[in-house]
Amino acid sequence: MSEHVRLWGGTHPDEKAATALADDLKARPIPNVIPGIANPLAREQGKRYVDINLAGSFPGDSSSKKYEQRRAVQVLAESQGFDVVIDLHNINSGRGENHACIDTSTGLSPRALGFLRTIGVRHLVVTDYAGIHKFVPNSFVLETLTNGLGSDVERLRSALDRLANDLSLPTANEEDFSWYRHLGSPHVSTVPPGTVTPDLNAFDVLPGEIATMMGYPDRQVCFSGWLDEPNEKGYWGEICEPIV
Ligand SMILES: [Zn+2]
Repeated sequence: MSEHVRLWGGTHPDEKAATALADDLKARPIPNVIPGIANPLAREQGKRYVDINLAGSFPGDSSSKKYEQRRAVQVLAESQGFDVVIDLHNINSGRGENHACIDTSTGLSPRALGFLRTIGVRHLVVTDYAGIHKFVPNSFVLETLTNGLGSDVERLRSALDRLANDLSLPTANEEDFSWYRHLGSPHVSTVPPGTVTPDLNAFDVLPGEIATMMGYPDRQVCFSGWLDEPNEKGYWGEICEPIV
């Protein structure tokens, strides 16, 4: 017995480690792991997306003028019949921590949760945006922190191999994780450079002044990922709050 695993890289083709892993799995297949590039046209054009962000475009619309709306229908169809479906992303230019985004309406099996523990995931973020994981049971967005494509690809390959083919992979339960609720992905140009200090880690509660600048005054909120280097758009962050 084995698990059939669907691995999507390239929902955001600019997240290079995710697409590299999908490519690598095509070149060097692992039994029972089926890789795919979720947004091939954006990748061809060297973009994050063509018309709209694919990550929030599900279930899609096959008659839409927008490419990602049409593509979402295909990706969803090609995600059926698997035991686990992974929408792989990566945080490649900032501090962060491996974490998974899930939708509680579809749920995750003890084996899928066990896989997450083997790659160091301690935090689960409940989202309500319209990703694959909102529509397919046992699917999740995996945000990996990458610091070198080669070693990251090998590490993820062996974890996927265990998920698909190793029956002794330990299972895990929901209580083995800390839970957060996703609040938003602000692009904030009003947070000055240097505000996010080097001692601030992913999932730490943000100091009040940063939370306020990010648009969440008087709330206990955290970053799950962010860019260190302010660009022309300012800071970008994924904001969540602990579920207690
Ligand atoms: Zn992404």
